[in-house]
Amino acid sequence: MSRPSRFDILVIGGGPAGLSLAAETADRGLDVGVLAPSHPPEWPNNYGAWRDTFPDDELAACTSHTWPHPVVVFEDDTRRTLDRTYVRIDNEALREALIERCHGGDVRWMTGWAEDVRHTPEGSKVSRRDDETLKARLVVDATGPGGGLLESTASREPALQTAHGIVARCEGDPLAGDAMHFMNYSRAHLPETASDDVPSFLYGMHLGGEWYFLEETRLADRPPLPAERLETRLEHRLQSKSIEIHDVLETEHVSIPMDPPLPDRPQRTLGFGATSGMVHPASGFSVTRSLRRASDVAGALADSMARGASARQVARDGWEAVWPRELCRTRQLHLFGLEMMLELDASTLSSFFQAFFELPESDWSTYLSADASPAETARIMLTLFGRAPFSLKRTITSTSFSPSAQHLIDGLLPSTLLD
Ligand SMILES: Cc1cc2nc3c(=O)[nH]c(=O)nc-3n(C[C@H](O)[C@H](O)[C@H](O)COP(=O)(O)OP(=O)(O)OC[C@H]3O[C@@H](n4cnc5c(N)ncnc54)[C@H](O)[C@@H]3O)c2cc1C
Repeated sequence: MSRPSRFDILVIGGGPAGLSLAAETADRGLDVGVLAPSHPPEWPNNYGAWRDTFPDDELAACTSHTWPHPVVVFEDDTRRTLDRTYVRIDNEALREALIERCHGGDVRWMTGWAEDVRHTPEGSKVSRRDDETLKARLVVDATGPGGGLLESTASREPALQTAHGIVARCEGDPLAGDAMHFMNYSRAHLPETASDDVPSFLYGMHLGGEWYFLEETRLADRPPLPAERLETRLEHRLQSKSIEIHDVLETEHVSIPMDPPLPDRPQRTLGFGATSGMVHPASGFSVTRSLRRASDVAGALADSMARGASARQVARDGWEAVWPRELCRTRQLHLFGLEMMLELDASTLSSFFQAFFELPESDWSTYLSADASPAETARIMLTLFGRAPFSLKRTITSTSFSPSAQHLIDGLLPSTLLD
């Protein structure tokens, strides 16, 4: 039997977000296509995640390394061992598992680049570079950070997370006997004159034998800390511990917009993943969030299509599932937290994380999850404020009066705290 020339859903982009939504929508019986530059799509980034954030055991098993007790090191070299398992994602295994699910749902693959999307009352048309136009009832933009198919009228310079990382064979142990440093804010390696410099941390993983993944990271900055400075910092950090690098297998430059304005909603193209603001403003993470949220969003789209909703209404229902009001408010709170963190010098930021990781694990995990209710997120923030040292309280209070923070608070107070 020949397949229809129009898809129910056409997903643009084959990253974690695109593949998970394609798999979930196809599993619900929809006719789904994926347009990606290559098949299988390339996944060049090194991904890590908390193991308990995967949606199911099969995907949680797609990991290359597991660390049951990651360590956080603070500015003064004190440390906290976390009882929450962190993993390095095996990109090939996760990608193959999602592709396998797509095959189960009969997803059709097309290679190429989408140029633009146009909408008619019945659906949408995607023009491809040098190729035929594709038609669908709904087009999903899953093209990653900075993806260009969504309309956005808001403009703001985003805070960027930047990092310089290497996978390398080392002589000596850069993690001083630990298996994984989730954040190492130790500044012992920096010259005295750098004592008031912008803080960056080492995100480090022992990969076995003499191999390590080591990444010097600036959590967020506006404007961003240049990658070359982070590279120099990583070199200083390693030199100060007499670590010699012998072979560099991979080099990674990270640049993640942490607080891009949400796209205009509703619009006829649905956004999913990093392109639609799903990166957590406190961590820069979105991979397992996309894996988890794909099911709800696919369910909403399948229901809408089964009801015979118009193409416009299907898109509306999709946006409601990607960004329900509650999660928009939670994001506002996370954005407020980010604004506050941007103001902190090295020592106050270290005190902040000391106080943060002293919260009950369920609290700091919930704050990092992005799916928590705004009331719960606000409660955790107030608990942290109550426990914070005086210098941190002073910064948080003064940040609250900055124009950008006021803008966030104005949008929040009536709905979040008084609901
Ligand atoms: C170096 C780096 C490391 C990161 N590490 C982590 C981490 O450890 N954990 C975590 O949770 N998050 C991490 N992130 C943040 C974020 O989760 C990733 O950016 C993640 O890849 C986002 O997934 P996505 O599927 O939304 O987009 P992407 O993975 O970027 O996938 C989008 C795909 O769409 C394709 N595409 C773009 N435009 C078009 C077009 N016009 N037509 C067709 N295809 C198109 C792209 O080629 C790409 O394959 C990292 C980001 C970077 C840059």
